[in-house]
Amino acid sequence: MQRLHARYPFLEAAREAVATEAVDLATVVEQDPAVVDRARERVLASLEGRSTGDPRRDSRVELLSYPVARVLVSMVEERVLVRKYARAEAATAFERFAADLEDTTELKSVESTGLGLEDLLAEFDLHEATRETPDGYRVDVGTYLPLAEALRDDEWRLVNRALADGEVPVTETELHTLLREAIRSRIEDGLPFDVPEAIATALEEEAAEIRDVLADLDLTREIDTVVPDLFPPCMKALLDDIQKGEHLPHHSRFAITAFLTSIGMTTDEIVELYRVNSSFGEEMTRYQTDHIRGDSSPTEYSPPSCATMQSYGDCVNKDDLCERIPHPMAYYEERIDDADDDDLEDWREANGEEEAASGD
Ligand code: SF4
Repeated sequence: MQRLHARYPFLEAAREAVATEAVDLATVVEQDPAVVDRARERVLASLEGRSTGDPRRDSRVELLSYPVARVLVSMVEERVLVRKYARAEAATAFERFAADLEDTTELKSVESTGLGLEDLLAEFDLHEATRETPDGYRVDVGTYLPLAEALRDDEWRLVNRALADGEVPVTETELHTLLREAIRSRIEDGLPFDVPEAIATALEEEAAEIRDVLADLDLTREIDTVVPDLFPPCMKALLDDIQKGEHLPHHSRFAITAFLTSIGMTTDEIVELYRVNSSFGEEMTRYQTDHIRGDSSPTEYSPPSCATMQSYGDCVNKDDLCERIPHPMAYYEERIDDADDDDLEDWREANGEEEAASGD
């Protein structure tokens, strides 16, 4: 059983096993360097990619390194680390789960030491909401929506699904992806938490190392990537209005221009983007953009917060992510952080091609 818990430390039973063995984390972090080392590796590997590194043979070390890794993530207290860590743990669990499932199917073994689909559905209370059909599965829409929320491909959007009787049809592979999302959100849940001082003191060195690696990665630079698909709904709507040639009130025009400036667009690019709208004279756009950027004024203006956007009626089409963020920039940052590196690269290339094409 310890092997199963070490393989899937996010399971409720694994958490209980750690608790009932009365494991005192403060003692572990002080006296068990192998656990601390594996915990540190879990977190560092998550910053490098979607993995938590090689598991240790010793199930006890592997199992205990999970709560210690959560402590380290909490000590560093960076949103981007929480997300990357949760994503890596979920991806690792997902790979193991896929392998277990294959073993179970191939060997037709009831005595598998791994985890079965039924177990995982039950773990996340999804068994009641999921029904097998001859061509796949059906998931209750109320269960489907929060699980698919962070999946950005269009195929996950409800409008692209043949919703029937409050159920969403999914393939087996898609059901696995939804389970991976359930795992990710459980791992992310409650992070970061307050770490007792005795534990924090013992782990200060490891936390400092993770902070250094995080700083070197400079994850925030990605915010300078312009990906309209990832814009918050309010900014997408304002950009749409501009491109449809509509006249925008001053506060709306200010909001979108300050947003585009903040994500790294140059004045020339913004002028180009607004050119389709005859109510945006080039000179005025140039003047206002330079002013907002701080080139022709003593102040560099930031885009308005969600509260201000709401008070002006510019907050529209809110989605689930909107419920969790206070500012359109925070929305965009989170979407950029969540995007695949490969996707971002594609977007950058597409942008480059577009620029080249428009320069012809
Ligand atoms: S909640 Fe914030 S980010 Fe979302 S649409 Fe409204 S203003 Fe934009």
